[in-house]
Amino acid sequence: MCGIVGCVGEKQARNYLISGLHRLEYRGYDSAGIVTIGTDNKATLLRAKGKVSKLEELVSSIRRTAKPSTDKIGIGHTRWATHGEPSEKNAHPHKAGDIYLVHNGIIENYKELKAEIKNHKFITDTDTEVLAALIDSLYDQNTTLADAVNQALKLVAGTYGIAVISVRNPDEIVVARSGSPLIIGVGDNETYIASDASALIGFTDKAIYLNDGEMAICRGDSVELRDLSAQPISAKVETIEIDMQAIQKQGYEHFLLKEICEQPSTLRSTLSGRINVKDKVANLGGLNLTPAELRKIEHVVIVGCGTAYYAGLLGMYYLEQLVDDLTIDVVAASELRYRSFHLPKDTVALVISQSGETADTLACLREIKRRGIKTLGVVNVVGSTIAREVDGGVYVHAGPEISVASTKAFTSQVAALTIFGIQLAQAKGADLQSVSKYIEELAKLPDEIDKIVSKDKEKIAKIAKRYAKYEHALYFGRDTLYPVAMEGALKLKEISYIQAEGYAAGELKHGPIALIDDSFFEVALLIDNWLFDKSLSTLEEVNARGGHIFVITNSKKAIKAEEIIRINTKLDILAPVLINVVQQLFAYYVAVARGNDVDQPRNLAKSVTVE
Ligand code: GLU
Repeated sequence: MCGIVGCVGEKQARNYLISGLHRLEYRGYDSAGIVTIGTDNKATLLRAKGKVSKLEELVSSIRRTAKPSTDKIGIGHTRWATHGEPSEKNAHPHKAGDIYLVHNGIIENYKELKAEIKNHKFITDTDTEVLAALIDSLYDQNTTLADAVNQALKLVAGTYGIAVISVRNPDEIVVARSGSPLIIGVGDNETYIASDASALIGFTDKAIYLNDGEMAICRGDSVELRDLSAQPISAKVETIEIDMQAIQKQGYEHFLLKEICEQPSTLRSTLSGRINVKDKVANLGGLNLTPAELRKIEHVVIVGCGTAYYAGLLGMYYLEQLVDDLTIDVVAASELRYRSFHLPKDTVALVISQSGETADTLACLREIKRRGIKTLGVVNVVGSTIAREVDGGVYVHAGPEISVASTKAFTSQVAALTIFGIQLAQAKGADLQSVSKYIEELAKLPDEIDKIVSKDKEKIAKIAKRYAKYEHALYFGRDTLYPVAMEGALKLKEISYIQAEGYAAGELKHGPIALIDDSFFEVALLIDNWLFDKSLSTLEEVNARGGHIFVITNSKKAIKAEEIIRINTKLDILAPVLINVVQQLFAYYVAVARGNDVDQPRNLAKSVTVE
């Protein structure tokens, strides 16, 4: 959440700041701001409520009127408000005395600190201004900016990724992190700051990933890393492997549609080298578990938030089917971390996060590790904090997911969990026959998704128009379709703002069926398997009460509903993943029909780095 950028060196800083903020906008879009210091040592602070385009207009209007000066240093921010409403006043950078600061995270003891600070007149409602004022209060003639930041951070409780500059020392950006990502891009006589590697693409492919408890003094030609006790740390420069195309819309109207439609290829990347249909084996290379260690696993706990949590729930059904002597818990990370939970000795934790930065999931990971339990990541973003802190795991290789609503990551996460299940089953002695159908279906899944995204879009869009006028929706499905129903409802509410609930079909009669009236529509998910007739009974119960039902199914049998999408597939086990792709397109077209900003829905942001 929130985008941070910074730049120091020889080039005009503003160009990188604005370009970087555009790239990071999906992390927060309440307001945006930059501050630059010119060769005349004067700071220019520009902030605007709303999207980065508003800030850009402001920057352009200043450029037209002011005489050109070279900005050799600057920092910028796109905000996802935690403390104080989205407004120009509360937008970052925040100023205190000679310093300017941008911040991602929450200063939890900001009230106590604020009460102690006497030499600053507070003008915003943010926690961040308190940190700016605290640093300023410690920044006197005998202290360097880095030392002032260092001392201030020792007094702070909470999470932060920060970048600080000062007109008194306009050659360096001081950055620090604890719980919020920060990356330093190393260029030619140019150093860049970003909270996400995508901002750096096209500027440099060399990066230093800051760890928690580290800070750095960044100059145009050098980067000095330290820990919070001011001890020097050697910097490891890594290569970023994201190409420009991956972060562009490539002709699609929205990133969301692009990401739904590219699932055949992103899923192929997830599967590549990990399943072998001929030999019927599956292998995730990075688990760092020997077959003997795999055999010993008796319990799996799966942790995630939002869509990753639902991917975990669907994964649970597959793991249960695949591995006999295994118990599984799937828990929302934000809940698990404060519970007095108990994990048996031979547990492995699967930690799922698209961004690899999700604060709740990261906190669970740390707590689970503290208890001596082996942790495995199912992560998309390479080099992210969760990926670096787990004992082993799998990159899902779905490529950058820019749209706030997660789609392709879900599909790849489910595939990775299924491969893990196959590998675990095989380690525990499962015969080839029992796993071969899973491997075959995984191998066919990309082509089956391709059929949907290339042939069914128009039909789904037409159905979506019909239901876009409703304000309430009820999704239901049984067994593997239960988590899919919840994910479908989540997708719809995120981007269309229609109130949507996902329910286990068998549970409808225990309460939610009371809701059904003409203000609701229902999305019924059905697979032609041993539960088909039971699911059909639920459907009939809804029909009997005047439901407005849209069915998504792989069945060719007669079904009574207002609208039906029949997926033409031979897949059986993984048909729920295909049904989910239809739901993704449905939610997308409903949101488009309602005129919403589908890539950046209200109140949300990508990469949730606050609790
Ligand atoms: N807590 C800070 C604020 O509300 C930072 C939020 C963010 O990470 O964007 O301004």
